[in-house]
Amino acid sequence: MKEASYYTVRAEQTVQCGLCPHGCMLRPGQTGRCRVRRNDGGRLIADTYGVVSALHMDPIRKKPLYRYFPESQVLSLGSYGCNFRCAWCQNADISQCGTGRASGTRRIEPQEIVDRMLRSDSIGLAYTYNEPTVWYEFMVDTAGLVYGAGMKNVVVTNGFINKEPLDELLRVSHAFNVDLKSFSDAFYRQYTGGKLQPVLDTMHAIVSAGLHLEIAFLVIPELNDDTDLFVQMVRWIRRELGKDVVLHINRYFPSWKHAAPPTPIALMNRMKSMAGEELSHVYLGNVR
Ligand code: SF4
Repeated sequence: MKEASYYTVRAEQTVQCGLCPHGCMLRPGQTGRCRVRRNDGGRLIADTYGVVSALHMDPIRKKPLYRYFPESQVLSLGSYGCNFRCAWCQNADISQCGTGRASGTRRIEPQEIVDRMLRSDSIGLAYTYNEPTVWYEFMVDTAGLVYGAGMKNVVVTNGFINKEPLDELLRVSHAFNVDLKSFSDAFYRQYTGGKLQPVLDTMHAIVSAGLHLEIAFLVIPELNDDTDLFVQMVRWIRRELGKDVVLHINRYFPSWKHAAPPTPIALMNRMKSMAGEELSHVYLGNVR
């Protein structure tokens, strides 16, 4: 069992996780909102350490990263769990389950993954598919080996992580795709269970560290398609992160528990042209 990083022991063996802003307080036997960090007798355990749900070689453009070694392939891996609860999640089968799915699965050591990467034509590793920050200890251990081998670490995340663990992750990372779900804190609280400001802080920290950042924004009809708020968002990106940060405006399709019809193409085009007035690199995604 791998002990988790970033937690505090409170009274009567209760522990408080310090990895993400949820700050779950867990009594013995309880598991956090991400479903993969568990109080085992007063110790916080990273239950999915070494548990890989998917491992594929992908074009890096699929992450999506369009302006970071755009012609390359990257060995991509994920596990289980997420600290958000988005009803339209496309990977709910791995993100919305945790320890139960992980039990009995063969655990892989970081060096095994790195050896496989080194035998391939990958530029490094991408931590993706589910939310990788809830797999923190395995990701950081593996990323440290990748970094030491002179290869690249790519993180595809919702950005909902506390500053201290983020700073540690930034030291071994090269490029990020952050999923910015809305520019409304009310949206975050109602539809994801998270908050907006920590995600903005994460993007700020990535850019301040001099790392490559691309942002993905999924347009969900009637939930986050307000164009006034969208313009506020792209202006914030330009002002706080710089006009060269890449923005992907992605088309939504019905998925998991959300059945609204797909995003109208006309709206996607309108948003692209609005964003193009502020940012240098704007792309539409999931559009033929
Ligand atoms: S990482 Fe998981 S256990 Fe820790 S605070 Fe976030 S949701 Fe809770």
